[in-house]
Amino acid sequence: MQRCAACGLHRYFPRPRCSKCQSALFDWALCAGTGSVYSFTICYPPVLPAFAAKVPYNVVVVELDEGPFIVSNLVDCENGEITVGMPVEVCFVEIDEALAVPQFRPLARLA
Ligand SMILES: [Zn+2]
Repeated sequence: MQRCAACGLHRYFPRPRCSKCQSALFDWALCAGTGSVYSFTICYPPVLPAFAAKVPYNVVVVELDEGPFIVSNLVDCENGEITVGMPVEVCFVEIDEALAVPQFRPLARLA
């Protein structure tokens, strides 16, 4: 993930300048791949034929532990079991041989 080299703010999606300090300096940092569900919705009407077999499907907004938010889907979880604040971890779902996208699955954190 892109990280401001001046103030350390992580940012997603990549941008030319930091939204906090306006610096153009940045580096790339590995992320933990964990976060929590900030918000979600369940989609019923298919908007594209490619999604017709997956209805209903979920769309989640995940707040990454580093701070940025990412819009994705939650897998390995029934739609009715999704809750705000649920801890999640990234997993990469292969779309085809050339493309894998980051999605999330529930994370069982130790108490
Ligand atoms: Zn900055």
